[in-house]
Amino acid sequence: MSKSVARLYTQFQPEHYDIDLAPDRKAMTFSGTVTVRGKKVGRPSQRLTFHQKDLKITKASIIKHDKKGDQPIEVSRVNNQDTLHEVRLHADGMIYPGEYTVTMEFSGTITKPMNGIYPCFYQHEGQDKMLIATQFESHHAREAVPCIDEPEAKATFQLTLTTPNGETVLSNTPVESQTTAGNQLTTTFEKTPRMSIYLLAFVFGEMEFSETKNKDGVLVRAYSVPGKVNLTGKALEVAARGLEFFSDYFKLAYPLPKLDVVALPDFAVGAMENWGLITFREQTMLADPKHSSIESKQLIAMVVCHELAHMWFGDLVTMKWWDDLWLNESFANMMEYRAVDALHPEWNFWEQFVSHETASAKRRDSLLDVQSVHIEVNHPDEIETLFDPSIVYAKGGSILYMLFNYLGEEVFRKGLQAYFKKHAYGNTTADDLWAALGEASGQNIGAFMRKWLTKPGFPMVDIDWEPGTTEIKLTQQRFLSNPEEQSDDSEPWQVPLAATYELNAPLLSKNTATTTATPTNDPLIFNHDGQSYYLPHYRSQGHVQRIIEAIKHGKVDAIDRLLLLDNYTMLQRGGQSSTVELLDLVSAYQHEDNENVWGAMSLGLSEARRLVEGDEPVEKNLDALIQSLVNDLAVQLGWDDQPTDDAQTLRLRGLAVSLAAGAKNQNVIDEGLQRFAKFKEPGDLDASTRSVVYYCGARYGTEADFEKLVHLHQTLQNADEKEEVAGGLAAAKQPEQIKRLLQMFTDGSIRRQDLLHWYVWLLRNRYSRQATWEWLTQNWDWVVEQFEAEKGFGMFARYAGSMFSTKQELKKFLDFFEAKRNIVALSRDVMLAEQEISSRVAWRERNEASVKDWLKART
Ligand SMILES: [Zn+2]
Repeated sequence: MSKSVARLYTQFQPEHYDIDLAPDRKAMTFSGTVTVRGKKVGRPSQRLTFHQKDLKITKASIIKHDKKGDQPIEVSRVNNQDTLHEVRLHADGMIYPGEYTVTMEFSGTITKPMNGIYPCFYQHEGQDKMLIATQFESHHAREAVPCIDEPEAKATFQLTLTTPNGETVLSNTPVESQTTAGNQLTTTFEKTPRMSIYLLAFVFGEMEFSETKNKDGVLVRAYSVPGKVNLTGKALEVAARGLEFFSDYFKLAYPLPKLDVVALPDFAVGAMENWGLITFREQTMLADPKHSSIESKQLIAMVVCHELAHMWFGDLVTMKWWDDLWLNESFANMMEYRAVDALHPEWNFWEQFVSHETASAKRRDSLLDVQSVHIEVNHPDEIETLFDPSIVYAKGGSILYMLFNYLGEEVFRKGLQAYFKKHAYGNTTADDLWAALGEASGQNIGAFMRKWLTKPGFPMVDIDWEPGTTEIKLTQQRFLSNPEEQSDDSEPWQVPLAATYELNAPLLSKNTATTTATPTNDPLIFNHDGQSYYLPHYRSQGHVQRIIEAIKHGKVDAIDRLLLLDNYTMLQRGGQSSTVELLDLVSAYQHEDNENVWGAMSLGLSEARRLVEGDEPVEKNLDALIQSLVNDLAVQLGWDDQPTDDAQTLRLRGLAVSLAAGAKNQNVIDEGLQRFAKFKEPGDLDASTRSVVYYCGARYGTEADFEKLVHLHQTLQNADEKEEVAGGLAAAKQPEQIKRLLQMFTDGSIRRQDLLHWYVWLLRNRYSRQATWEWLTQNWDWVVEQFEAEKGFGMFARYAGSMFSTKQELKKFLDFFEAKRNIVALSRDVMLAEQEISSRVAWRERNEASVKDWLKART
């Protein structure tokens, strides 16, 4: 599907780089020198080629090293190939395989897109300030220094930076030496371990830090801009403890003497695993110990542990090429939950894994042309489109979790330990991992995992069983959210059935099979606790009823309860069941008190909401249904956080009160408005219900209430507090207010890094959906200019795809995006958004009338 681009590693293999950089913050430029020693390999040639993008190479020299000593090779011409991101150093004579040192002098500009070397803007004590930071993954190192910018081209690096005197300057390794000259500080960092260049990083500017030494002797520091260091506590603690956890889990010590975690005011994604210098957006690292919500603290723990997992998966052992990006991200995705579960067992984090990651993976993975976890990639622009969070992170994490359950943790861990030992400082492909796990387990893991990894989708397994009998008939086929589509791939998956009964054949490896089990009084549940990655479809009403009865009697655990809801949400989307059946099921969860299960109920109810949106009498009935389920719980939990509340209670309170408010419970709205009228700053409100107070103010308050929130958003400094206010504002209903919010997109009131959040919230809000879409179409050139080079670019299409559900919306979407399909960074998201909207249009046709009838009959 795309043209292949030559790998430069096939002609030059770097061993060590000395890089000197002098960024100039005032001029927004930088100049530098790179000296790289390495091997010319392959055929003799008259040139050496390196990656560069938008750099000006002002001088280049080549020295050959051999038995005869060092001989300079005349560089006759330096030729920038801008479309290929290359610089070619031509020589008059042949360059034969052997050892060479290449030196280049170069200069470049510091530009606002949050890639390469970029500025982060903030204010301190009324002054405009700027940090300078880097983001090199996936292929942006070439914007900072000429190099071989491919993950396989591992080398050691010694970085020297010239920066303003008096500022903090950080890189992957500790400072080796520093000298000052006038108002300039020159810092040389210790040589890095052998690593890929996308992991190189630096940050400089005014910063503060907190620090601790963990029990393995690693110095851990958490940095922020001045005035925010009191918010670094949670990240520092998790970084120190998490590093201990992983060193022990993999039986391989973290190899660097220090780890810095740095909160950057501007940051494109969540965080970046630069070895020894992990960078974060402020929201994923900073939280007020007293006033931040439990969600903020859990987010920090998750993101920090994700990046820590990368210190091994990704940094120590790296995928050979981007097609195996999942080796980094899928592992980090799963291991972040494993680590958080070890640090905070009371958070029941596997419940969140199943309800968030696996559920998000399945929704995306049910589109016909979704990417597989392992994916071919050639052109650099394609690389950025690989980072599909639902597939490379969540699906990859889910199939690894399946393998983890299938092998058992002990075997799984033993295999990983062997893998790290063997491949430390090297590069791998999937086969290397399967070999290590195969050795540990005595099984052919490559064969077991092949289809899961290389093909899109996942199976629905039809389960034919009557309670009391011993025979179970099983049929698998790919599940698609659009029943009118068909996959032409009929090869079966190897499906661990993970049932609550002991089956005589626990692995389904054919398209149809029969297994037997001895029935007990407990319900027979498949994919128990989300240990596998498939969709059970119970064909017998008696079978389903047994499970529902058991739920009513409190005999089914939380993960199985939420998965049953999630399964039916999927099945009704795919035409295997109906939205009415889903509503019946949700209604059976009368006394539910688990937050993650409530999350699944809430998703089920929002399916019905989508179908009846705008039909006010019917919506009233839906609101009444939701209230009948949630009102008692909301009253019982109240609005106020108690010192004795555990994480689950805090999260449940927020969810219950917000569901009640969303279903227009007048008491809840009144209470929310009263609290809104009284509060002056976020800390005055209870953390778990604060966002509901904002919601009430924005949706049901006065013009002055709206202004109060806008003002708060402009003045708040803490990223998580700001984000909560933003989420509240996005509930606005009045056209003038919505217009104002959309103006804020481009007038500098909203950081570029946060714009996609606002965009998806305002698309989700039915009152602002149309205006937000119009904003996109009218501001497209601006969007391209701002976001084209970043990973999130495709999200502008994807989020619209996730919200639209009518024929008219499908047409609008295609009218606009049809002509943009050939933009490499967009094409996948546009294609999948079209499939998603089409399947939703068909879903609406199947279900809208019956859901309305069902709800009308409730009065
Ligand atoms: Zn990651």
